[in-house]
Amino acid sequence: MTTLPTLPMLQPRRGKPPRHFTDLDPAERADAVKQLGQPAFRAKQLATHYYDHLTVDADDMTDLPAAARDSLVGELFPPLLTKVTQLSADDGATVKTLWNLIDHAKVESVLMKYPDRATLCVTSQAGCGMACPFCATGQMGLTRNLSAGEIIEQVRLAARQARDGELGGDPVRLSNVVFMGMGEPLANYAAVITAVRALTSPPPEGFGLSARHVTVSTVGLVTGIDRLASEGIPVTLALSLHAPDDELRDELVPINARWKVDEALDAARRYFDATGRRVSIEYALIRDINDHAHRAELLAKKLNARGDGWVHINPIPLNPTPGSKWTASDPKVEQEFVRILRMHGIPTTIRDTRGSDIDGACGQLAIKER
Ligand code: SAH
Repeated sequence: MTTLPTLPMLQPRRGKPPRHFTDLDPAERADAVKQLGQPAFRAKQLATHYYDHLTVDADDMTDLPAAARDSLVGELFPPLLTKVTQLSADDGATVKTLWNLIDHAKVESVLMKYPDRATLCVTSQAGCGMACPFCATGQMGLTRNLSAGEIIEQVRLAARQARDGELGGDPVRLSNVVFMGMGEPLANYAAVITAVRALTSPPPEGFGLSARHVTVSTVGLVTGIDRLASEGIPVTLALSLHAPDDELRDELVPINARWKVDEALDAARRYFDATGRRVSIEYALIRDINDHAHRAELLAKKLNARGDGWVHINPIPLNPTPGSKWTASDPKVEQEFVRILRMHGIPTTIRDTRGSDIDGACGQLAIKER
C-alpha cells in the first residue's frame, strides 16, 4: 500500500507577514530608507504620514519626491490587513471588523464609541492557546502570533475610521486601546510591546495615546507581567482572574496550573508598585459557577491582604458562547456579588458589554467561516 504524499498547496498557508515600517525601531527605519536610496530623514516623514495622518497612500505623501514615493511605500508599507466584513451594532457606535491576513488567517477588532472616548479592542494572536473553556477564541486553539505591524495596522485603520466619521457621523479621536480581542497578549510579548510603544509614543513616532488609556489584559502570565512592569510604560494591566480559588480557576483558566491565584495576584500587586497604575481584575460572572457570595468574600480578602487602593474589579456578565453549558449570572446574584466586594472597600464596576448581537463582545471573537 502506498501512502499519498501530502499536497503542500492544500495545506493552509501559515506564514510570517512581510516586514512593515511599524515593526522597525527608528534606527532600523532610517537604515531601511537609506537602503532604498533615500536620506534617513525620510523615515520621519513616513512616520508622520503613518502615525499622524494615518495614511499609507503614496499619493498623500506630497512632501516626498514623486519618484521615490512608490518604492518607499511598496517596500515599507506592504498591505497586512484586508477588510473582509464589517458589522455594526448599538446604532452604529460599535463596529466589528473581520480582517484577512496575508496567510489567510482571520482576525477581528472591535471599535466602540462612548460619550467621552472611543475604544478599540485589538487582537494580538490568530486564535489563542490559553484554552479558557468559556471563551470562544479559547476554543479555536492558536494559529499564530500577529506581528507588531498587524497589531498596529488594526489601530491605524480604526483611528482613521473614527476620524473620518464612520462611527455614526462626527469625527471621533481614538483615545483608548484594549488588548482584549483574540489572543493572549503576553504570550506574544515582543510584538505586543512594540505595539504598545507605537501606541504611546508621541507623534511622529507613535499615535500619542496616554499610557493609562492602553490596557493589556492577561490570563496571568507572571513572567510577562513582571517584564511589562519593567518597561517604564505605565499601561493599565487587567488580570483575568474569574475565580479566587485554585480549584475553580484551574478549570476556568487552565494556565492556573502553572501560576496559581496567589502568584498571579502577587504579580499584579508588583505591577502596581512598579507603575502606580491601579490594576483591573476581570471577573466574568458565570451562573452557579463562580458567582457565589463566598467567592466574593474570598476575592475581597485576597485583594485586601495585598493592600488598599491598588486594584479595582470589573465583573462582566458572561457572554455565552455557542455550545457552552454556561450562562450569565442572575442579575440579583450579580448585584449581591458587587455589593459584597464594595462592602469590603474594593471599587467595583460592572463592565459594559457591547456588540453581543454581532458576536463582538468579550470572549465572543471567533471566526465562523473557516
Ligand atoms: N487573553 C487575554 C485577553 C483576551 S479576552 C485575557 O484573558 O485577559 C479579554 C477579556 O474577556 C478577558 O478578561 C477574558 O477572560 C474575557 N472573556 C473571555 N470570554 C468571555 C466571555 N464569554 N464572556 C465574558 N468575558 C469573557
